[in-house]
Amino acid sequence: MVCFCFLVDQTKKVKRSKPVAGSCSRCGGGASVADMITQTRFCFVPFYWKSWKAIMCTFCGAMLKSYR
Ligand SMILES: [Zn+2]
Repeated sequence: MVCFCFLVDQTKKVKRSKPVAGSCSRCGGGASVADMITQTRFCFVPFYWKSWKAIMCTFCGAMLKSYR
């Protein structure tokens, strides 16, 4: 018997980040530029990747700006 599952999830990973000039508009913490990877999985099998850059707050994790 075949069991079908329709489970799609997305994971966001920070590949690396480095501090950049600027501060968070929410908490005033330091900003950093991060190389992000969004991975979309279907039944736990990754089938789609997208890498992009974002400016993030190192303190509260807020996304200040993203480049796609
Ligand atoms: Zn912040």
